[in-house]
Amino acid sequence: MFKEHVQHCPLCGSIAINNKYHIDRYNLEFHVDCCNDCGFIFMNPLFTDDVIENFYSEEYFKGRADYSYIDEREIKKYSQYVWNKRIDVIREYVKTGNFLDIGCSFGGLLESASRYFTPYGIELSDYAYSHASEIFGKNIHHGTLDSHKFKYDFFSAITMIELIEHLADPVSAVNECFKLLRPEGVLVVQTANMNGKQAKDLKDKYEYFMPGHLSYFTAENLTMLLKSAGFRKIKIYYPVEFGLIPKLLKSRGSFKKISDYAAWWRISSYHMKSKIHFGNFAMTSSMVIYAVK
Ligand SMILES: [Zn+2]
Repeated sequence: MFKEHVQHCPLCGSIAINNKYHIDRYNLEFHVDCCNDCGFIFMNPLFTDDVIENFYSEEYFKGRADYSYIDEREIKKYSQYVWNKRIDVIREYVKTGNFLDIGCSFGGLLESASRYFTPYGIELSDYAYSHASEIFGKNIHHGTLDSHKFKYDFFSAITMIELIEHLADPVSAVNECFKLLRPEGVLVVQTANMNGKQAKDLKDKYEYFMPGHLSYFTAENLTMLLKSAGFRKIKIYYPVEFGLIPKLLKSRGSFKKISDYAAWWRISSYHMKSKIHFGNFAMTSSMVIYAVK
């Protein structure tokens, strides 16, 4: 069920680690530790690999998203507003070339990317892989970043959207991304900023604490990791790298009735609140980081 309890921070190596929270609202309970030196929060002890692999079963995907086939196509139609906008911003960094989405799921972002880039993906889940490989064939690697056969200096852009928190060894993953990128290539990482007021206020109740999430960053220690991997230019966007409109258009995908549009007020105020940040302070915990090789 659990691996051995580690005695040092997986990010900076410090032995100054303390138990932070016991997350007990799921069937699978777990503890997270926090590093006093770099602020990295991580599941400790980790679940064993077989427990983690079970997270990405068909039931998991279906259960989480409550998908039927029709819904999936519907949601895709609305999500494209966000995916297309993200690709527009990536193209401010790199215009064309090979594009890798790690944890590409059903391949939605890759479909948007394929207008300008040659799309490649990595997907662990059998269920999501079978969908993505129907569209992109052999360009999708079924597995993880540890087992790929891609060439180094090959990609113009690599995206890890809500992916890095699922990794037990994010240091190796970021180092591998650096090797996979060509010079001037860009890495895009979206994950929660645990230094955000939102996460700090909610403490162990913060929704990001869930059994599939093993690594919890802050804007500062993720920047540190990217710099130590060799990335030169790093830019943090709060809450995301695009405006409010694509988010509002995407949200319509889950609306069933007119009154659901009330959610637009909540989404808009969250977006505006997320713009409040200075120094190490951020009002919410949403962030996207772009890092250039
Ligand atoms: Zn540390």
